[in-house]
Amino acid sequence: MSSVRVRIAPSPTGPTHVGTAYQALFDRLFADKFGGRFILRIEDTDQDRSRREYETQLMDSLKWIGIDWDEGPDVGGDYGPYRQSERLEIYREHAKILVDSGHAYYCFCSSDRLAEMRADQERNKKPLGYDRRCRNLSPSEVDQRLQQGEDYVIRLKMPKEGVCEIEDKLRGKIEFDYAQSDDQVILKSDGFPTYHLAVVVDDFHMKISHVIRGEEWITSTPKHLVLYDSFGWEPPEFIHLPLLLNRDGTKMSKRRNPTSIEYYRRAGYSADALLNYLALMAYPPLNDEEKVSLAEFVQDFDIRKINLGGSIFDMDKLTWLNGRYLREDRTPQQILGEMKEWLVNDEQFLGIVSLLHERMETLGDFMPKAAFFFAREVNPSEQDLLPKNREAGEVSQMLQTAIWALDSTANWDAQGIESKVRFVADFWDWPVREVTVPLTVALTGSKVGPPLFETIILLGIDIVRMRLINGIEALGGLSKKKAKKLEKEWKKV
Ligand code: GLU
Repeated sequence: MSSVRVRIAPSPTGPTHVGTAYQALFDRLFADKFGGRFILRIEDTDQDRSRREYETQLMDSLKWIGIDWDEGPDVGGDYGPYRQSERLEIYREHAKILVDSGHAYYCFCSSDRLAEMRADQERNKKPLGYDRRCRNLSPSEVDQRLQQGEDYVIRLKMPKEGVCEIEDKLRGKIEFDYAQSDDQVILKSDGFPTYHLAVVVDDFHMKISHVIRGEEWITSTPKHLVLYDSFGWEPPEFIHLPLLLNRDGTKMSKRRNPTSIEYYRRAGYSADALLNYLALMAYPPLNDEEKVSLAEFVQDFDIRKINLGGSIFDMDKLTWLNGRYLREDRTPQQILGEMKEWLVNDEQFLGIVSLLHERMETLGDFMPKAAFFFAREVNPSEQDLLPKNREAGEVSQMLQTAIWALDSTANWDAQGIESKVRFVADFWDWPVREVTVPLTVALTGSKVGPPLFETIILLGIDIVRMRLINGIEALGGLSKKKAKKLEKEWKKV
């Protein structure tokens, strides 16, 4: 089966999610098993949220964990460009083809009209969705409105009734009622495609044989099948992988667990151990052995062995496995080499020395004062986290707002961070010190640390987020209900 071609299509809108590496891993396994090719395609059609630095980070993180690709924006290939923002003309042409063949239509409904329609549907408890007002406009009216330069989107005509059958290679037949489907927008008013059009056009033109993606995309598949059918194309095979889960069984989210590859790398996990652990999320151990190399997985790989339950991402188990890799597979010399690549190098040391410079009397002061920088966790005490007269509940909530504030900091420099910290203090109407002290304790484990804003820069958002979450836990945690309520208030400001 040499024509196997698989892909991942990540959106560069944030740090690289472990779920992306998990999918990439199964693509790689599948491609290698069948002598096929694995393609990296960047889905950067969300103009507001896509950023080139996230794309660079994504490629860097995938390479670090040990996954490479045969075609992609950096290595090229016969089916490029591999960045969707460079394929806009292709999508526009294809949207037009569908309009001309009667499978799609121009929709001129304004956002005001759509909002009114939705409000009306909600009021009358009718099913939500586009009411298809523009589906049957006469060709002359459409021409006239286009000539007048009215804004439009292009919508796909979904069947109004009947059943869509998806054949998933892992799950068998899955049925969807067309009656519940909406006439999906496929080309937006800014001329950019939506995910559905772009993914189908690209998968077809890039000759993708198997679409391997997360379970959360199953409900999009009927729309994709209608698109394939409308173009008269043969669809690929679909394989929907089980989701990675938080301990409580919900979809893995950064509220509970660190979700970015960059976190695990910065916290000192090893790439081979993390990759091994990700494989175990959907694949059984080999002969009862959980420590399995990529090459061994490739050799054994059989798609029927993938378990569908969804897997709990358990940091303790990952840490245990990581320990085995260090103990069983490395000499001290190799560990030292790995540590140098990690943080034990001149560049990192210089950054920390600059921070501690003013606080050192002898060179011997450096290591104890810098320890928090390298530690996996810092274990702050509840007592240290609480400014006088403040209660655990309110400090937890304050730390949660600090996470949100820092998460949305575009300028990761002292000024940008300072303004966010002040913003948090204003939000609570607390003296700035009552914000900076708990932050310092949560991030360094102690009340006296180097300058806070520079410390935050050096630790990086991934470590900062996790340590603040741990700080909240040390204070007894924050209930889902409280967090929701708080988020509402936070969003208002
Ligand atoms: N951009 C989507 C994602 O982030 C791609 C989904 C697909 O593979 O079709 O996973």
